[in-house]
Amino acid sequence: MMMDIALARELRGLVSDDGRVIPANMIEKKYLSDALARMTGSAEALVFPVSTAETSALMDYAYRRDIPVTARSAGTNLTGSTVPLTGGLVLDFSRMNRLLEIDAETFCATVEPGILLGEFQQTLEAQGLFYPPDPGEKTSAIGGNIATNAGGMRAVKYGVTRDYVRGLEIVKADGSVLNLGGKTVKDASGLSLKNLIVGSEGTLALITKCILKILPLPRESKGALAAFPSLEAGIAAVNPLLKSDPTAIEFLERDIVALGEKYTELSFPLPGRAAYLLLAYHGNSKNEIQERLHLAREICENAGAEDFLVIEDAAAFDRVWQIRGCIVKAVEAFSEQEPLDIVVPINRLSFFINFVHNVERESGLRMVSFGHAGDGNVHLCVIRGGRSAEEWERVLKEVMPLLYRTAAAIGGLVSGEHGIGIAKQRYFLENTAAQNIALMRQIKAVFDPKNLLNPGKSYHNLLS
Ligand SMILES: Cc1cc2nc3c(=O)[nH]c(=O)nc-3n(C[C@H](O)[C@H](O)[C@H](O)COP(=O)(O)OP(=O)(O)OC[C@H]3O[C@@H](n4cnc5c(N)ncnc54)[C@H](O)[C@@H]3O)c2cc1C
Repeated sequence: MMMDIALARELRGLVSDDGRVIPANMIEKKYLSDALARMTGSAEALVFPVSTAETSALMDYAYRRDIPVTARSAGTNLTGSTVPLTGGLVLDFSRMNRLLEIDAETFCATVEPGILLGEFQQTLEAQGLFYPPDPGEKTSAIGGNIATNAGGMRAVKYGVTRDYVRGLEIVKADGSVLNLGGKTVKDASGLSLKNLIVGSEGTLALITKCILKILPLPRESKGALAAFPSLEAGIAAVNPLLKSDPTAIEFLERDIVALGEKYTELSFPLPGRAAYLLLAYHGNSKNEIQERLHLAREICENAGAEDFLVIEDAAAFDRVWQIRGCIVKAVEAFSEQEPLDIVVPINRLSFFINFVHNVERESGLRMVSFGHAGDGNVHLCVIRGGRSAEEWERVLKEVMPLLYRTAAAIGGLVSGEHGIGIAKQRYFLENTAAQNIALMRQIKAVFDPKNLLNPGKSYHNLLS
């Protein structure tokens, strides 16, 4: 306790406001966990920096005393990647949340890491501008989005967070401040250090400023819902639908829609069907959208769709996306679940979904699947139901390796967008070439020679 008091006193000397240093005994649990709150770590202090200078001073202090540091922005990750495993400091960037600049000449916005995605998007849209990356959780923050290379619904047309990061300011483990990339469109100048930081889950450096590419807001948008007699039939339509230039293609099964309806108290159109593809289109004119929707209808009908509904009304469109957007929370409210975020090559999606259905039948485990069909990213929720802790652990041990191994065998990856954190570490290490993991660890050793930044996450385990 004495040590904590001394530590808190010293940390308070590094920030402009004492109230932003929280000692161990006063840290709320949520700052030691992630969105699912299944794992909780421990820390000697929680600090809310508000500037690069403070972050640098805090990191320099930690480096000189070998104190581990876990960064967090909004804490919405689903993988335990903000759980401090080895004590030390939690640096929470939620108060470093300013939009610093919108540069209309270079189509770049500069923000601090704690700015919330939803607020950033709304501010841009009010000015006729657009930031496409769209993970389902709008209360996540840009710093976390970059550190996890967040994806979301619109990746099929626009790509993922990495594609929008032009430049970063980072604080290295020793407290030094570096600028990587900038406002240029192209960059063929040496190794892309910026791209090493994207997706690094707080293990290489702290992100303190972000220069993001933005686009003009598309003039028109519209959605459609196609209902199919089976998920397999719907999935068969996904590849041909890519020709219609969709912004999003999401797939959902009936039982998951029912959970979403219950959770939101909203109703989904075309009730009672086995499976759906939810489509969104952006375009610059009504005609362009009409053409895309026309092609999409034709493709869905050829694939056996029972219905194809163009959602004309903006409020109805929002309701449908609200139901889709709440699914992780809706499933979680129903039962504990193991969330998976496997991504497979787009032409193997159908095979993988069929495989999942077979495993479901054979194991008796309930697995609800939904996700970003347009980019092969399958979100599976494996439902615990009434199983005891021992039984749950046993079936997970049997089934999980099977799912990950099969995905790897067809060219898939353990995570498409949520990252590895702790929750998927075992499967990641098992299904990634040993040389690749070794190289990742060597890179960490260069950035962070004392292993202080988010130790024990992703490619780095505590024994290496
Ligand atoms: C309901 C729900 C739906 C979701 N849907 C999606 C989805 O569709 N697509 C998707 O991609 N994700 C989704 N997620 C997961 C989550 O929202 C994303 O991973 C998001 O990018 C995390 O952002 P965050 O600000 O909450 O980061 P945090 O949870 O705070 O941190 C995530 C990781 O980033 C690191 N980090 C945070 N800030 C910094 C920083 N300043 N410097 C260095 N490292 C940092 C942390 O150490 C941690 O490893 C969903 C989550 C929920 C709860």
